[in-house]
Amino acid sequence: MSKFEFEFTDNVMYVKGVGPRRAASLEKLNIFTKYDLLTHYPRTYDNHSNLNRICDIFEGESVVLVGKIFNITSREARNLTIINAYLQDDSGVIQLTWFNQKYLLTKLRDGMRLMVIGKTKFDRWSGRLAMSQIQSFTILDADEEPELGIMPVYASTAAISQKIFRTAMKNLLSQMPKLTEILPQEILREQDLISLDEAMRAIHFPKNLAELDAARRRLAFDELFLIQCGLMLIKRQTQDERLGISHKKNGKLVKSALAKLPFELTKDQKKVFRAVVKDMESKLPMRRLVQGDVGSGKTAVAMLALVKTVESGFQGAFMAPTEILAVQHYEKFSALLGDLGIRIGLLSAKITRSKRLKDDIYQKISAHEVDIVIGTHALIQEGVQFAKLGLVVTDEQHRFGVNQRSELEKKSDTLPDMLVMTATPIPRTMTLTVYGDLDVSVIKELPPGRKPIKTVVKNIRGRKNVYDFVRTEILAGRQAYVVCPLIERSESELLADIEPAEEIFNMLRKGIFSDIPCALLHGKMTPRDKDEIMEKFRDGETKLLVSTTVIEVGVDVPNASVMVVEYAERFGLAQLHQLRGRVGRGAAKSYCILISDSKNDVAKARLETMETTSDGFKLAEVDLKLRGPGQFFGEAQHGLPDLKIADVFRDLEILIQARDAAEKFVTDDDNLNYFANLRQNLALAYGDKFNQIIAN
Ligand code: ADP
Ligand code: MG
Repeated sequence: MSKFEFEFTDNVMYVKGVGPRRAASLEKLNIFTKYDLLTHYPRTYDNHSNLNRICDIFEGESVVLVGKIFNITSREARNLTIINAYLQDDSGVIQLTWFNQKYLLTKLRDGMRLMVIGKTKFDRWSGRLAMSQIQSFTILDADEEPELGIMPVYASTAAISQKIFRTAMKNLLSQMPKLTEILPQEILREQDLISLDEAMRAIHFPKNLAELDAARRRLAFDELFLIQCGLMLIKRQTQDERLGISHKKNGKLVKSALAKLPFELTKDQKKVFRAVVKDMESKLPMRRLVQGDVGSGKTAVAMLALVKTVESGFQGAFMAPTEILAVQHYEKFSALLGDLGIRIGLLSAKITRSKRLKDDIYQKISAHEVDIVIGTHALIQEGVQFAKLGLVVTDEQHRFGVNQRSELEKKSDTLPDMLVMTATPIPRTMTLTVYGDLDVSVIKELPPGRKPIKTVVKNIRGRKNVYDFVRTEILAGRQAYVVCPLIERSESELLADIEPAEEIFNMLRKGIFSDIPCALLHGKMTPRDKDEIMEKFRDGETKLLVSTTVIEVGVDVPNASVMVVEYAERFGLAQLHQLRGRVGRGAAKSYCILISDSKNDVAKARLETMETTSDGFKLAEVDLKLRGPGQFFGEAQHGLPDLKIADVFRDLEILIQARDAAEKFVTDDDNLNYFANLRQNLALAYGDKFNQIIAN
C-alpha cells in the first residue's frame, strides 16, 4: 500500500485517542493532519531503563522515581510561582520543586501516583536531597506499570501531557500500514540507510540508542535529499535549456576600472573576483553566491564583474533591495565608471512613477543604450526587456525570494551569468540547503583601517545617560540613529508594552533633542517621503534619525557615529549586526548601544555576545542555534521549508552525502519517473512550496 492511500491528509481526529478538544490543542502546535502528527518528531528523549529508589540516589544524579505525592503548596516569589510537593516511595521521601508552572496546581492532587524524571541536588535549607530540575513527569493510575526505556518527549502545550501524546502517537503508528519506500534500493544500500517504515516507527519509539540514531539519520537524509533534488533540478534546467555566455578575457576596460578604484582590492576580494572571472569566461552559466560581512567590499567585486560583462559587449543588471541603496550604488558607479564611457541607468520606483522617465529607461534598456542598469524590484517588472543581458547581480539576496532570482534571467534572450551577494553570514549547511544550486565564495577579511564599533548593552534604566551621550556626540558634529522595533502601538498583547518609534521619536524631539533637527523614518511612509528624509540625513541636515529597521541594509552615512537600538532583545543577532554596520563607516570612533530590559537570561547572554564579537558569522550561528533557521531567514523570504529533523549544524556530513546522492540521482534520466514519487512526498511534506520552486 502506498503511503498516500492511508490518507495521511486525514484530520488528526481520525487517530484513536484524539477527539475534538485534543485536536484543537494540537492545532496550536500546527498539527492538523495525521501526517503532521507523524512528523511531529520528538523534541528529545528520556532515556531511563531502570527505576531508582529514593534511598539509593546521590546528589547530581539523573533519576526516575515512582511514588505518591503529598503536601502540594505554592507561593509567589518575585516574578516566580514556586510549587513544592513531596514524593514518597517505599524507601523514602524527596522534595520536588517546579518553577513557573502554575497550571500544575490544577493537575496535581495529594495522593496521586507520579513517575518523575529529573536531576537531584542538595538543598541547603532542608539539608536533604531535593529535585528541582524536573525534566518530565507522568501521572500514573493506581495500578499502572510505569513505562521505562527510551521515551519520546514531544514539544507540547499544557493541554496535552506527554502521556496523551505518546498514546496518540502509538495509536497512529499501529493504524498506519507499512510505509512504501521512497528511496531507490541502490541509495539505501550505498548510504547504509534503514527503510522509511522502520525509521518512522523508531524515531518515536526506539528500542535502543543505535536504533534511534539510524532512524534519525535516515529521516534527516530524506529531508536533505529531497531538498537537494529540487535544487539540482533547478540547476539542471538552467544548464540544459540554453548555453551560457562565455565572456571575453579581462581587457582594457576592466583594468581601467580597477585603476579607478580609490583602493587596492584585499586578498579576499581578489580571490573572489578571480573565481567570478573564471565562471564568467566559462561557457556554463555562472551561479555564484558571494558571502561577506557588511562592509567587506562585495560591491566593488560586483562592479568589476559588471564592467567585465560590458567589455564583452553585454549589459549588466544590479538589483538592490531598497530604493535608497539603488540610488547610492547608482551614484557611486556613475562617479567611478562615467568617464570610462560606460552608460549607467537607474530603474527604481521613483523613476517608474513618471511615465516619461519610465518609457525612456525601458527604451534604452531594450535598445542597448545603457550598459549597466541599477535598480530595485522595478527591474523584474513586466515590460523591462534587455537587449543583451550578460550578468545579473542581486545584492542582499535573502530579501529576494529564490523565485525572484530567476525572474531576472527571463528578461533577455541570453542566459545571463548570475552573481548573488549576501551580508547575512550563513553557515555552510544552510547555504547548501537554501542555496544548493549556487557555488559559494566568501570574503572574510575586511578592508584595512576599519575601526571596531564599540558595542554595549544597557538596561532601560540607563536610557537617560545613553541619550545624554548621544547628545554630546551630536554636539561634537556627528549624527546618530535610533532604531525601534515597531512603528506604532501594537494591538497584540505580546507587544503592548513596547514603546513604538513614533512615541520614542516624540519623546526625544520634544525632550532632550528639542534644539536638534530630528526625523522619523519607517516602512509605512511613501517611498518619496523616505527618500527625502534619507537625503536630508545623508546631507547632514538632520542629526538624529529615529527609524524602524528600514535602515538595516546598506545605507552609507560616514558621519553617523552612534546607533542606539531600543528593545534590542527583539532583534536577531545577525540583524543587529547588520544594523550596527550602519555606523563605523567614517573616521570617528563609533558606538552601538543596545537598550534592553529583558530579564530573560538567554536574551541577555545573546545580547552580550554582541559586545564581544564583531564576527558576523559567529553571531549568525549563535542566532541560528537559539532561534532556528525559520526565524533566521523568515520563511517567506527564502521560500524553502524549515527543516523538521535535519540539523543545520550537526548534519553537515549527511548533507554532503545527500547532495552527492541527489546529484547522481537527478542526472540519470531514468530516475525522473521515480522522481514523480519523491515529488509527491515533497508535496505532502512541504505543500506546494517546492512545486513553485521546481516549476520555475
Ligand atoms: P559591502 O557591499 O560588502 O557591504 P562595500 O563594497 O559597500 O561593502 O564596501 C564598504 C566600504 O569599503 C566602501 O566605502 C568601499 O569603498 C570600501 N572598500 C571596499 N573595498 C575596499 C578595499 N579593498 N580597501 C579599502 N576600502 C574598501
Ligand atoms: Mg553592500
